[in-house]
Amino acid sequence: MIAEPQPPSAIFHRSLTKTYPTATTGQGVYITQSDGSKILDGSCGAAVSCLGHGHQAVIEAITEQARQLSFAHTSFFTSDPAEELASLLIKSSDGRFSTCMFLSSGSEAVESALKIARQYHLSKGEPRRTNFIARRSAYHGNTLGALSAGFNPSRREAFEPMLSPAFHHVSPCFFSRDAIDGEDEDEYTDRLMREYEDKFLALGPETVAAVIIETVGGATLGAVPGLPKYLSSLLELCDRHGALLIYDEVMCGMGRVGTLHAWQALGGTPPDLQTIRKGLAAGYQPLSGILIGSKVHDAIREIQATLPFVSGHTYQGHPLACAAALAVQKTIVRDDLLSKVRRMGGLLSQRLRDSTPCLKEVRGMGLFLAVEFSTQPGAHMASDVAATCMKNGLAVYLCSSAVDAVLFAPPFIITEAEVDQLVSIFLTSVEEVLQDLRDK
Ligand code: PMP
Repeated sequence: MIAEPQPPSAIFHRSLTKTYPTATTGQGVYITQSDGSKILDGSCGAAVSCLGHGHQAVIEAITEQARQLSFAHTSFFTSDPAEELASLLIKSSDGRFSTCMFLSSGSEAVESALKIARQYHLSKGEPRRTNFIARRSAYHGNTLGALSAGFNPSRREAFEPMLSPAFHHVSPCFFSRDAIDGEDEDEYTDRLMREYEDKFLALGPETVAAVIIETVGGATLGAVPGLPKYLSSLLELCDRHGALLIYDEVMCGMGRVGTLHAWQALGGTPPDLQTIRKGLAAGYQPLSGILIGSKVHDAIREIQATLPFVSGHTYQGHPLACAAALAVQKTIVRDDLLSKVRRMGGLLSQRLRDSTPCLKEVRGMGLFLAVEFSTQPGAHMASDVAATCMKNGLAVYLCSSAVDAVLFAPPFIITEAEVDQLVSIFLTSVEEVLQDLRDK
């Protein structure tokens, strides 16, 4: 039978050549497609749906808030859910932050964090601090400032002439791949700190506004954890040069690695500013945030009357989105889901380590894990594995072409039986891809 030609979609999809299956319903760790088949959500899209789908407490909180008030512009009003959510996040962050700003996307949060860093230096009477240092292979979002901070060549290429020259890049922190000559973690960290120091000196330390890093690298290289000494040394270096340290925890934060913030599992060095996003409202509403330390907040606030922070977004602090996030965060605490993330993460990583063929590395923390394959140099099987998994009923996130890897970030509520199912579909799919390669 000849397939009916598909009418062109009215949506400008991510790919204009691909036909997307329609997701119709979601329950627990599964998404059901319009043909009735179920997909196990093995990466929560891109580490988003941490409570899974159809969570009653969150649905009820959204419904109740919609009944009361869906929107009130933040130029005029604050709202109870936004205030309560901010207090909860501040209280659960070891006293490291004093205020919180809520936005919608991760890219928006990164943009605003960069602007807050700039505003801090203006408030301190240091207008020459306009440079930012970020890392090669980082991903910080797709808006122009965030894209300038990030360094994924394929995402940047078309827009290169529009990107900001204020961003400068150093090596990523990828110990398992980049350590040379038997370096241990401390020696490796010292080498990367010398690279930062050289970059500060080349730019002029008095011109650097901030360093921005992903605490655990996500979309580009796949679940690459930072090192405790790296984070503490970097904060010390930034402090010494009067620059701020920004952690982008849009993907790795909000419980994904088994602690509320990823840095809490990496030695406990907090940043000056931190972006949060995906697990915050778990996909039930679009919400992101910036956690702001008192040093930054106090400096900006002190001089606010003469130097106001002029930057805002229409949907910032959206009451419905904050109500959803509040319900998500309360559920995570009530059901002790962070312990579950650590337990299930250990189980999943062990099963993947024990049984994946062509395995180069299983890396990551908690339920934020990447499997990198060990194929011939230049060969790439991850994209075929991700496509075959999808055909077989499992969605996994494909990392960038810089690594031959897929990312697992299932819902925190995943059960042991569902972990087994995930691993089983994954291994069947890897075998299918290997068989295809042998047949070629
Ligand atoms: N920062 C990081 C670390 C991310 O992983 C992402 C999204 N994957 C972003 C920023 C951008 O977030 P959004 O897609 O919500 O704009």
